[in-house]
Amino acid sequence: MDYIMHPNTKRNLITGGSGFLGSHLAKKLLDKGEEVICLDNFFTGKKNNINELIKNRNFELIRHDVTEPIKLEIDNIWHLACPASPIHYQFNPIKTTKTSFMGTYNMLGLAKRVGAKFLLASTSEVYGDPEEHPQKESYKGSVNTTGIRSCYDEGKRIAETLCSDYQRIHGVDVRIMRIFNTYGPKMRADDGRVISNFIVQAIKQEKITIYGDGYQTRSFCYVDDLIDGMILLMDSDYQNPVNIGNPNEFSIKELASIIRELINPKLTFDYKELPKDDPRQRKPSIELAKNLLNWEPKIELKEGLLKTIDWFKKNL
Ligand code: NAD
Ligand code: UDP
Repeated sequence: MDYIMHPNTKRNLITGGSGFLGSHLAKKLLDKGEEVICLDNFFTGKKNNINELIKNRNFELIRHDVTEPIKLEIDNIWHLACPASPIHYQFNPIKTTKTSFMGTYNMLGLAKRVGAKFLLASTSEVYGDPEEHPQKESYKGSVNTTGIRSCYDEGKRIAETLCSDYQRIHGVDVRIMRIFNTYGPKMRADDGRVISNFIVQAIKQEKITIYGDGYQTRSFCYVDDLIDGMILLMDSDYQNPVNIGNPNEFSIKELASIIRELINPKLTFDYKELPKDDPRQRKPSIELAKNLLNWEPKIELKEGLLKTIDWFKKNL
């Protein structure tokens, strides 16, 4: 018998839906009984991430590049398509800027045409190398316009600008989520991000590569907490930027010591050159998310790391 969708079932488009965050979001929405169209060009996304979802009759997959327009009938657009790790967004920086601008422009045009709600996966990188700490949404940022991270940082800044102008001029119902460093199962082993690098190195009994002196800080959010925040934000009616992240701050050296302790305390550190424009500190102020969405992260770093290590041990 053909499946007939209930008229109240939401149809969600997730751009970048086969990536790390997109595949977790897709699963969560399918578990709620909603429809998901996953759109991806597979630059960093993996079919493995969505293997288990393909069997679900509410799931569809489209290979498409968001820099090209597309016509679809949907209720919600979760716009995540963009490489997120420095090695991947710096691989073809002009394409990264193009994806951020043209991709967001095309998806906002689609949202305008069909009256869909639109959520942008923005980033803490809009704050650059921040002089304000922790970073509140009101902080305007300190971003280099010409450095090696600019394609991503400035790309996300212009994407936020596009969202705000589509909201003001065309009445598109936008959400802007500033995501802080997130980790968990389904990160790529070759992603180059700090948590996946450290875990993979430790499992392989290799030296742990610390860039610079390791005193730079980040605040790490477990993926389940982040996806809960993302869905709450979409369900809210707030159209300005909201930070979603875990405010517990760690130096990279502390993180390396924790992961070493959890996998193999005998491993040593290998200090490497600090990449250019690497932010010295990062920690979200999440007061707005707490008040607006009644959201705060629940999973502490060690607990999230253990789940992530377990996944990498099974999937490396
Ligand atoms: P990811 O690299 O795993 O996923 C990105 C997905 O987008 C991939 O599936 C990739 O193939 C797809 N993609 C890239 N360019 C595309 C294009 N032109 N057309 C269609 N698909 C394209 O990264 P992620 O960690 O899942 O990040 C998802 C989003 O969240 C990104 O927009 C990223 O900027 C944002 N974000 C993530 C983090 C984090 O810590 N994970 C932090 C801040 C912001
Ligand atoms: N980093 C590190 N060793 C690695 C990978 C990253 O010391 O093997 C550092 C990196 O220089 C940065 C921090 O860890 O200071 C977070 O890096 P990541 O690429 O995960 O995220 P981002 O810099 O975009 O926040």
